[in-house]
Amino acid sequence: MQNRIHIQEGDITAMEVDVIVNAANPSLLGGGGVDGAIHRAAGPALLAACKVVRQQQGECAPGHAVITEAGQLRAKAVIHTVGPIWRGGSDNEAQLLGDAYRNSLQLVSANGYRSVAFPAISTGIYGYPKAAAAQIAMDTVSDYLTRHPLPEQVYFVCYDEENARLYQRLLTQRFPV
Ligand code: ADP
Repeated sequence: MQNRIHIQEGDITAMEVDVIVNAANPSLLGGGGVDGAIHRAAGPALLAACKVVRQQQGECAPGHAVITEAGQLRAKAVIHTVGPIWRGGSDNEAQLLGDAYRNSLQLVSANGYRSVAFPAISTGIYGYPKAAAAQIAMDTVSDYLTRHPLPEQVYFVCYDEENARLYQRLLTQRFPV
């Protein structure tokens, strides 16, 4: 199990994995942060695919996830999930953040993909405290992997040093060397 979870520092758009997860907003029509970076790297085909989903099912609620093609990215698909906006912690944020990871993983498995890269969902513009969010990410992914053969490999992509440090500490706690 410990060799199925990896931490990678840097830009998620450069990841060579089957699926890149986007921390989207409910409109699915792009935004700032990692969402903007993914749309810039993927090109207009990704926005077009998002618009189709949007027409079919409307907005994407917090905790939910949808899958599209990946445009010009090296990945085969992009999963767009919407994390919760941090409102102090008593607005079901923890449950919704776990749901965002779980529902993304379910789409990876259901489509037969073997590797996936996650950003630190909700820890940018949405303001979720980074330590608490990292704990939920690690717990939810670890729990899922114990019960499912796919994805084989999960990468947590940390764009800032604080997240990299937090994730590394959690991984070491979970799998001491
Ligand atoms: P949210 O609205 O869910 O908070 P953000 O995009 O604002 O989404 O931030 C989520 C996380 O993604 C933050 O930790 C931010 O540092 C990180 N991030 C921003 N750009 C990138 C990128 N190119 N690759 C990976 N992570 C990124």
